[in-house]
Amino acid sequence: MASVEEHVEQEILQADNGAAGTAEAPAADAIQVENPATGEIVGTVPDLDAEAVAQMAARARDAQPQWQAYGFEGRARVLVRAQKWLMDNAQRVTETIVSETGKTYEDANLAEIGYAGNAFGFWAKEGPRYLADEHVKSSQILVKGKRLVLRYQPLGLIGVIGPWNYPLTNSFGDCIPALMAGNSVILKPSEVTPLTSLLMAEGLRECGLPEGVLQIATGRGATGAALIEHVDMIMFTGSTRTGTKVAEAAARRLIPASLELGGKDPMIVLADADLERAANFAAYFSMQNAGQTCISIERVYVEEPVYDEFVAKVSEKVRALRVGNPDGGFGTVEVGAITFPPQLDTIKDHVDDAVQKGARVLTGGQQVPGAGRFFEPTVLVDVDHSMKCMTEETFGPTLPIMKVADADEAVRLANDSPYGLGASVFSRDAERGEAIARRLEAGAANVNDAMINYTVLELPMGGAKASGLGSRHGAGGIRKYCSQQAIVVTAKLAMKKELFMYPYKSRTSRMLAGALKLLYGRGKRD
Ligand code: NAD
Repeated sequence: MASVEEHVEQEILQADNGAAGTAEAPAADAIQVENPATGEIVGTVPDLDAEAVAQMAARARDAQPQWQAYGFEGRARVLVRAQKWLMDNAQRVTETIVSETGKTYEDANLAEIGYAGNAFGFWAKEGPRYLADEHVKSSQILVKGKRLVLRYQPLGLIGVIGPWNYPLTNSFGDCIPALMAGNSVILKPSEVTPLTSLLMAEGLRECGLPEGVLQIATGRGATGAALIEHVDMIMFTGSTRTGTKVAEAAARRLIPASLELGGKDPMIVLADADLERAANFAAYFSMQNAGQTCISIERVYVEEPVYDEFVAKVSEKVRALRVGNPDGGFGTVEVGAITFPPQLDTIKDHVDDAVQKGARVLTGGQQVPGAGRFFEPTVLVDVDHSMKCMTEETFGPTLPIMKVADADEAVRLANDSPYGLGASVFSRDAERGEAIARRLEAGAANVNDAMINYTVLELPMGGAKASGLGSRHGAGGIRKYCSQQAIVVTAKLAMKKELFMYPYKSRTSRMLAGALKLLYGRGKRD
């Protein structure tokens, strides 16, 4: 881990120099970054104050016009280089992610390196198409013969604020389309996991990203709050509680905010499901990343006839999982650490609350004793909606499974949540599965699958209800970093004066009124 520490030391100097404009005393207090799997301190970063953020914003605004002038081609070139840089440095980036999250190498590699590798190429290729001028046709008679264009322009300076569970995918990932659109970006990563963002910024500089176009504002909540005061748009990923504060701050400045928030994703298993596949998906997508994924499977509803068999299969699979320090690399353990200290209390609280109200623990249920922060992969049954484990985001390696009478009860319970991020339905009848998916109040629903929608960058990913506002990915995932401008061009050979202009004359006005009736008055009222 020496290389990470060296790198971070250097970043501290750069951030302090840049922020304060002098090489002297640090601009603010420092934040120690801990490896949750060992308790070891793996880095120290500055906790930047509002003044430092203001200076960063000024630098970002100076740098932005030059970056915009690179055009799509120039910007895409930098992103494509960054894609190669990431693959060449995959080991180093993976180690950095693992060192600050305690997740397994597999979780870091598949869901972070894999995501970012795809995203660099995707936005470099699709960004120009999504942001190209659109030539619009209109049925409006007054614009016949005129040229109608919808164009997208970078907003200028984008603030990205991220959570700790995916430092590359969810913090840095959102910077990629914002940059491709021609903006400068200031990223405020979680204070728990800032090292990956610092390393990625270094990588982008190596790939030719001009100074000041991407800056990392390390710090706590106050640094994030200060950032909102300077940017033209804020992209936030984190809890619903903080997201509400971010939305309020953005509203006060009348800037757009895109919010990707918490979830309590349900899985529905119908009696005709392929139970082996459903059980594998339940075990994997509840425990992957130690359950610390916004779109983890957090609760399962199983139709009565297959409930016992499904529970037996899932319990057996979860019981077999190894939990612990992932430091040995690929294949060491399946379930890594709990990254954020208070999260462990929430997990314990949800399990204890369930047990107190009558739930049974079929496997797991306890914090793992010894060094590091780990929780045993846990399966709970005899659960219901009086329990926190079924209604509040647990964000840990726990899976409560509930028996339901039929699909209607499953849908009703799945929708009985303030959240609406993702969902999944398992049935051998794909049509019926899809019909049920369409009844779920969720931003995404997978049939005989889970989470896969997140990897499809062509599809929007965003939450319904308290899970968010707006979305990432797809055309909207880059257009949101732009202002749109409607352009109407009237050809040179237009009339000197339009019919409706002054002076008003009774005959012309009656003729125009008649024309309106002809145009819009031919329908029926029945
Ligand atoms: P959090 O809300 O505690 O913190 C998120 C970020 O906001 C951090 O960088 C934090 O420093 C910053 N922050 C705190 N107070 C702020 C303020 N007043 N103004 C501006 N910024 C502020 O969330 P977390 O614990 O880091 O992340 C876990 C949560 O994120 C879970 O609820 C999870 O579901 C959610 N999440 C959602 C998605 C998604 O795509 N919907 C993805 C990943 C995580």
